[in-house]
Amino acid sequence: MKIFKSDEYQHVNYLWDDAYADSLDPVERLVYRSNILGDDQRITNTGGGNTSSKIMQTDPLTGAEVDVMYVKGSGGDLRTSKRANFASLYMDKVMQLQDVYDAAEEKGVKTPIEDAMVAMYPHCVYNLNPRASSIDTPLHAFIPYRHVDHTHPNAVIAIAACSNGKELTKEIYGDDVVWVDWQRPGFDLGLVLQETIKANEGIQGIILGAHGLINWADDDKECYELSLTLIEKAARYLEEHDLGDNTFGGAKYQTVSDADRDALLIDILPSLRGMVSQENRFIGTVQYTDDVMAFVNSNDAMRLAELGTSCPDHFLRTKIKPLYVEWDAKTEDTAALLAKLESGIVQYRKDYADYYDQCKRPASPALRDPNPRVILIPGIGMIAYGKNKSESRVTAEFYNCAIAVMKGAEAVGEYVALPRQEAFDIEYWALEEAKLQRMPAEKSLERNVVVVIGAGSGIGVSTALRVAKEGAHVVCADLHADSAQATADQLTKIYGMGIGVAGSGLSSCGPAIGLSVNITDRESVTALLNQVLLAYGGIDNVIVTAGVFVAPDKTGHVTDDQWRFTFDVNVLGGYIVGDEARKIWEAQGLRGSLVLTTSVNGVVSKKGSVAYDTSKAAANHVVRELAVELSPLVRVNGLAPATVVEGSSMFPRDRVISSLTKYNIEHSEDEETDTLRSKLANFYAQRTLTKSPITPEDQAEVAYLLSTNAFSKTTGQIFSVDGGLHEAFLR
Ligand SMILES: [Zn+2]
Repeated sequence: MKIFKSDEYQHVNYLWDDAYADSLDPVERLVYRSNILGDDQRITNTGGGNTSSKIMQTDPLTGAEVDVMYVKGSGGDLRTSKRANFASLYMDKVMQLQDVYDAAEEKGVKTPIEDAMVAMYPHCVYNLNPRASSIDTPLHAFIPYRHVDHTHPNAVIAIAACSNGKELTKEIYGDDVVWVDWQRPGFDLGLVLQETIKANEGIQGIILGAHGLINWADDDKECYELSLTLIEKAARYLEEHDLGDNTFGGAKYQTVSDADRDALLIDILPSLRGMVSQENRFIGTVQYTDDVMAFVNSNDAMRLAELGTSCPDHFLRTKIKPLYVEWDAKTEDTAALLAKLESGIVQYRKDYADYYDQCKRPASPALRDPNPRVILIPGIGMIAYGKNKSESRVTAEFYNCAIAVMKGAEAVGEYVALPRQEAFDIEYWALEEAKLQRMPAEKSLERNVVVVIGAGSGIGVSTALRVAKEGAHVVCADLHADSAQATADQLTKIYGMGIGVAGSGLSSCGPAIGLSVNITDRESVTALLNQVLLAYGGIDNVIVTAGVFVAPDKTGHVTDDQWRFTFDVNVLGGYIVGDEARKIWEAQGLRGSLVLTTSVNGVVSKKGSVAYDTSKAAANHVVRELAVELSPLVRVNGLAPATVVEGSSMFPRDRVISSLTKYNIEHSEDEETDTLRSKLANFYAQRTLTKSPITPEDQAEVAYLLSTNAFSKTTGQIFSVDGGLHEAFLR
């Protein structure tokens, strides 16, 4: 077959760099090849596909040269894979597994021996490599070539999921590529490939019906270029047959304006999250790219959506089909849309339970969460759900793939989804269930969106870090946009963006975002919460650490304007946040929590800070009033710190020095601010019962705990984190 030159590809990115590849050892070359294949979404989806190289290695026991297959292991992703993601197996031992398989009385796809073979791979491991082998391992082992690429390219799956896919394969590739009917991946499929290659001398690749592409070569660069060429050929064929405006039967609905779309999304997202989160909370990703809009607006969308996705990778995330809601922005209002979403979801759950009942086998795992993961709305776009942001982006990405596949298939034939029973046998496969069971237990805030207001400094930064550690998605909000963003960047650096490439605008975000807000301005608070909805689809917990202390003049007084400002921030601000978040909590109908930061000064009377102290006394009562107003859905509690000097914006250098002077603590104006602060912190510590400086982390720990189910029965309470100040004891 003629291989395209590096500058001839129009539908895939050619990324091979000889100089770089030649600097790598054979295993690193495999990692490199995998990464550049995975880098292009048109070649393979996140987590989909696998690659292998058979490489001569020295046996650690005998010192002999042995043939070892390195193959992408279970889990992981081609784009981000590293050496550790590849399993390594002695080739001679893997080939001997065929004898074990052949010896079984009953064999073939879905027979007990097929799954039992998975337990044999650890016996073939070279060099104690702990990476578990994937179920696709035999697809690579039984192909008698040194390098194998298995990918899920949209263009090829379009052919593979087409009613006349076999004929199209012949038309596009002649005798170079052969069609193999759909069969669930596993040991038997490996043997089918082996037989197919034996029976068709000289073929260079196989189209796996309803699944993807597998091809090979004895040289790794040739294998890479062959993969690209095969995909390019399919994509060019589809391009020639593109239906243009008639794609998906042409448009039936129109896309609404950007402003209308955002307003509609903000109106429906909280209720929608509540509907799909009846069993488990989900995080959303919104997408409204041209490709998505062409599909959701089309005449054929309802019919095609109902057929479901095809590639086995897809429906594990997207479920067998999306929920498509027929709604027309031109003639119907938001209330009509919400009503249609509600009845659509009820019907979806019923359909899913029916699918389970009709397809289940005696040993099938129990019915899983029956709520849709993908929701399609004409004029607006797609809303995808997952247990966290990364997973919801994967869900969205996979439905994008499904749209591309359906577009191609419908242009050259008729799109055919996997039969329901086949879909079920993948979704409820014992091996998939075992993978789910092996997943680590979820963290306490894993499915939660936590908004931390004041996240640009001091207690707010520590709180953002603390809740992120428990798996929360963290909205870092602060009056200062730059410092809010710095905290969000810090979190993203620690936890990474995750996998999955999808989402429009803010919704393509990772586990943390930084936004600005002025809590004394209701419009600003509303704007903040709206942004959070567009980014994550909902809100679970809000923690306000923002506050202000206006330093009094030498006589111990502040101006009347400073009084008002103090009350605006410390009292009204917390109330506005709770009052605005209430609308979202009520629409979601899910339990939530609000933590307002007050101060022990709220109950200790003293000279020199009357505005601040009375504002905090009022804030304590805001906590109690909101606890009553927001019950039973939302718990509201107060965190009352005392004298947290470290990292606090309330203790600028000037205030530290004036306090040190006031208390006659020895210091010099030349000393570093941090040194001066720790002197003051130690002085304050000595006034407490526990005699230790109080840190932002001490506060963050309590803010975090109050947001979790650990305090699920506690509301309307003020928690002092003050080292023990007997003047502040509540009585
Ligand atoms: Zn595959």
